[in-house]
Amino acid sequence: MTPADAIRNVGIIAHVDAGKTTLTERILHNTGTIRYMGDVRDGNTVTDSLPQERQRGISIISAAVTCTWSQTQINVIDTPGHIDFTAEVERTLSVMDGAIAVFCALRGVQAQSETVWRQARRHAIPTIAFINKLDRPGADHRRAVRQLKEKLLVNAVPLQFPLERDDGSIGLVDLLTGDVLNADGQPAAQKLDFNANPDASAAHSHLVECLAESDDVILNAYLENTIPSPETLRAALRRAVIRRNLVPVLFGSALRNVGVPQLLDAVRDYLPSPADRHQTQGSTAEELNATVFKVVDQGGPEGPIAYLRIYTGTLTLDRQVWNVHRQENFTPTQLYRVYAEMFEPINGAGAGDIVAVSGVGTTLRTGDTLATGPHPAITADMTFPEPVVSMVIEPVAGIPAASFDAALQRFCREDPTLKAKPGPLPGQWTLAGMGELHLDVVRDRIKTDFGMDTRAGNGKVEYRDTIAAPAAVTYHFTKQLTNLEHIITADIELDVTPLHNGAGLEILFPPDSADWPEDQREAIAAGIRDFINAEAEGFPLTDMRIRIVAAKHDAGEAAALAFLTATRLALADAIAKARRVKMEPVMRLEVSTPQDHLGSVIADLSARRARITEVDSLALGAARITALVPLAELLGYATAIRTLSSGRADFVAEPAVYEPAPQDHVKQAPTTDLG
Ligand code: GDP
Repeated sequence: MTPADAIRNVGIIAHVDAGKTTLTERILHNTGTIRYMGDVRDGNTVTDSLPQERQRGISIISAAVTCTWSQTQINVIDTPGHIDFTAEVERTLSVMDGAIAVFCALRGVQAQSETVWRQARRHAIPTIAFINKLDRPGADHRRAVRQLKEKLLVNAVPLQFPLERDDGSIGLVDLLTGDVLNADGQPAAQKLDFNANPDASAAHSHLVECLAESDDVILNAYLENTIPSPETLRAALRRAVIRRNLVPVLFGSALRNVGVPQLLDAVRDYLPSPADRHQTQGSTAEELNATVFKVVDQGGPEGPIAYLRIYTGTLTLDRQVWNVHRQENFTPTQLYRVYAEMFEPINGAGAGDIVAVSGVGTTLRTGDTLATGPHPAITADMTFPEPVVSMVIEPVAGIPAASFDAALQRFCREDPTLKAKPGPLPGQWTLAGMGELHLDVVRDRIKTDFGMDTRAGNGKVEYRDTIAAPAAVTYHFTKQLTNLEHIITADIELDVTPLHNGAGLEILFPPDSADWPEDQREAIAAGIRDFINAEAEGFPLTDMRIRIVAAKHDAGEAAALAFLTATRLALADAIAKARRVKMEPVMRLEVSTPQDHLGSVIADLSARRARITEVDSLALGAARITALVPLAELLGYATAIRTLSSGRADFVAEPAVYEPAPQDHVKQAPTTDLG
């Protein structure tokens, strides 16, 4: 087992096309994990395993692969670059300890990189910036660094100085040592003489000064006018990066494999190990605490594979563990370390590590917590945004309903932001997700993975309800069942509390619920589920907490049924007291458009109840509009904006919040005639 301080769990975050796939692949090559270098342009890279990812140029599925760089085990977590899949980004961010943010030297900081950056900041993830594509004509590394500071408001500090050579090739000077790297990635015989290159010298001084600002050791050396050794600077940098006082910037070309080994050194030297990030407070080292952050079904004989992040304790093959969310036992049939496409069976893994397990069956789902020891409460460790849009779909004639349903269920297991249920008509299903593109991609995958063509109706907004005030209820249920001799009873005490906008739905069980009979817990959970999904009650509930305070019953038979009913009725009572409020999903929209279409795009947005929050001028006569727009007004926006801008404007949209909906907007029937 690898000790936690020799592990780096690193995600690569980037705007689509910045070079994330190429870089990941080069990292795997440099560390000897894969033997030949694929090129995205040839479509044979390792991390993008689905054909439509290449077609659309986006990475939807995040995989975690392990590689080793000078005795450090680096688990590379691939994150999706497209904004419609922020739940995926969110999920991978929650299991990584550090990140490499890739930027394109031509395009600098783009809209989506800002979004992903905000998420990384929310998770307090120490980050290294890699400015890629330095080989491209028109690459402007200075502008890219400036944008990091101005747009992302980070203390971006270059660790290298790019040498601009007359022949257009790239050279990189290591500002800590003066070592020079040639365009072929090989070190030059001579170090750079800082005295002979005032720009490089200024960059070196800037680095030392930035460190002096945050580190006493360097400050003292600086005041005494001594030059700290590269080792001292490196140690200070590590402290500063882990405290998130600065973001080191490295440069290179993933395509030409320039700067990639130096980036790996930086990951080892400056990004935190799991031990730097997670204390094991509150649980002894033997107790396992692990999170399932990904379930993938590749159709192999081992069935679905789950990727786990182990926070404390160890996971071994022979040990049964407790699935806190499902309230049931789980025993892995095999543990694996994943090297690109190869799965190596291992016997165990320790705190800080990321591993894959089989034996998942249909029980383990993304977001589940696995534990040993007394870990009774169901906590909201990993919350997922709720679907904001749905669509009725049906397979084309000749596809058996059971196989189609199985295909849908597979996607839902892998992606907790996707929901599928049968109806509204026989032979139809309702698919719900994070945006119209999300659902389109799922339909594509049903076709490519299963060869099933589908027809789909229009997107439909998923409205929600919340509550206006807290309420508490104690409910006593009693009934004489005709087929049983005795009376059954169940007492349930619960309360409901409104939560802040965007909090989702939180369900809490009391700490002693681990000692409750399994069918009782399950029945209460089912009662809650039934109630929140019951269409007759209103829209599904969000931004609130349902807390089960206590539950008692008369130890007789049919207790489960009594609890299910009692929970439903108690909840109905509590929600009625707390007053329902209708909410609609509002999307954060970013439109990039040429300046000449700016006026018409803004006018159109205003007609869509948009609140424009920012209008930015970009390079090359482009502008960016950021706005909050109700999703109800954005259905079919892709077509509308194409018409409006003669195909020159582009947009991305992600669910932002649910807000109270104007009454006259909350009505729509599902489309069942799919034409
Ligand atoms: P992703 O969408 O961020 O995963 O980006 P890809 O790795 O798929 O790269 C997008 C495109 O940029 C591909 O055509 C790559 O070959 C190209 N690319 C990536 N890195 C570099 C680089 O360093 N230099 C040049 N010139 N092209 C690059």
